[in-house]
Amino acid sequence: MEFTIDLVTVLKIAREESTRAKTEIDALGPLAAYQRSVQRHDERLARAQDAQTLDCKAGCAWCCSFSVDIRPVEAFNILKYMENSLNSDEKKQICSEMTANSAILSGLDDLERMRQTLKCPFLIQNQCSIYEARPQTCRNYHATDSAGCKQSFDEPDNTDIPPDYAPGVYQAGGAHVEAFSQAMQDAGYDCAAYELSSAMLELMSDPEAARLRFEGKLPVFLSTEGTEVTPELID
Ligand code: SF4
Repeated sequence: MEFTIDLVTVLKIAREESTRAKTEIDALGPLAAYQRSVQRHDERLARAQDAQTLDCKAGCAWCCSFSVDIRPVEAFNILKYMENSLNSDEKKQICSEMTANSAILSGLDDLERMRQTLKCPFLIQNQCSIYEARPQTCRNYHATDSAGCKQSFDEPDNTDIPPDYAPGVYQAGGAHVEAFSQAMQDAGYDCAAYELSSAMLELMSDPEAARLRFEGKLPVFLSTEGTEVTPELID
């Protein structure tokens, strides 16, 4: 699907989010700033002019069977949510699935990972068990026809499936996330994207060591390689 980037809107969102994020990272620290940014992110997506055209709904989880990348601040937020909101059986199941997924995904390149259909460890009974703390990439839902999502699930090797998505939601979400990430990067924090299962397992195995590396503005995860993400919309 081809569309024209609405540069005026994208730059407006990027400027607004950048200013707010910088101020809040300095004043509140990265985790609290991220949590506030996520609220604005959700509001922005809901306000996009084509938000009503989305086909995404509770119980539809085709996109939850593809590899997900997370940034360190998102991993800390997810860990906090898990500690406060999940029971021990849920945590046990999630850890066991993360271990299995990490073993399969470790060492694969981006394209190979894209071709794996592995259920996300956080998907329990077809619902996201960390919905409020789900990563920003999952928040940027924007499919207007779930048939395409199902086809991608059924045919993971087919990279020619045309996506049916809402351009307004896509651009609003993309600009917001890129602006927040840029602000984190400018403040010196690790903002690389890491494979979800490997990153979460390492974080859970020694949260304090990961926290010290994060606050020391060092690469947070040592067992998995992060990918620096280049902004696409606001560069
Ligand atoms: S974190 Fe939640 S929304 Fe994202 S892929 Fe996993 S189950 Fe789906």
